[in-house]
Amino acid sequence: MTTAILSALPEEQSSLVQHLLHAQRVMHAGRAFWLGELHGRPVVLALSGIGKVAASTTATALIERFGVARIVFTGVAGGVGDGVNVGDVVVANEYLQHDMDASPLFPRWEMPGYARSRFVCDAPLSALLSGAASAYLASADGQLGFRSMDGQVPANPTAPRVHAGLVASGDRFVCAASEAQHLRSTLQAAGHDVLAVEMEGAAVAQVCHDYGLPFAAVRTISDRADDTAHVDFPAFVRTVATRYAEHILLGFVQELSK
Ligand code: SAH
Repeated sequence: MTTAILSALPEEQSSLVQHLLHAQRVMHAGRAFWLGELHGRPVVLALSGIGKVAASTTATALIERFGVARIVFTGVAGGVGDGVNVGDVVVANEYLQHDMDASPLFPRWEMPGYARSRFVCDAPLSALLSGAASAYLASADGQLGFRSMDGQVPANPTAPRVHAGLVASGDRFVCAASEAQHLRSTLQAAGHDVLAVEMEGAAVAQVCHDYGLPFAAVRTISDRADDTAHVDFPAFVRTVATRYAEHILLGFVQELSK
């Protein structure tokens, strides 16, 4: 049973590739797929690409061409829920596309043809991700949080936390406090309590739903989707998210192989 690990950003993927045994790079659909073993488990590592369509292509290729049995996503996201701070980790238990709007033909956010607006993540895989994330954040390295960022003052003075809940994806980098607030409150009014926003997860969740494959996702909070999101982002990815992804995913695969 091959496990696919999808990363959104090359920095996150490269740290995992370094741990790969018997690594083999295969080009397909204009993308590089890394085949090999982590902790004795067959895996394929791939970059999702940015946005819902790119991520769907990659997910479909993983299933059709590489025959993976499950897909796990690692990336960064903007925190929009209360207390979802930079340096925290969100494990998605459900996904929704915040830019899906076929109203008035369908209720806002409902996926036409699916009679639903949310796709559920696989509970056992999500539990393994949560466990690996909690273990990492509790470790000495995880306690560094993002305090190691080039002498910058941490924006989140509390210890990093793991959250579980709804994550929303859309083809927008949300980088205005007013937009993040609007997105959150309109979703909340419809009963969707969103913790974080990003650009790929819901698309991969939909592809996995179509093929009947388990899917889970872990996102490190890189910004608060506000007016400084683009400022925080690059340094955070370089110094923190890459380290989180490496430790959490290796911990996850280790548990998987028990
Ligand atoms: N700097 C990158 C582009 C990153 S786009 C490059 O040059 O290639 C942002 C990525 O981070 C996406 O993968 C998205 O899923 C996630 N993300 C982080 N914060 C986000 C936010 N506030 N809004 C939307 N997506 C966000």
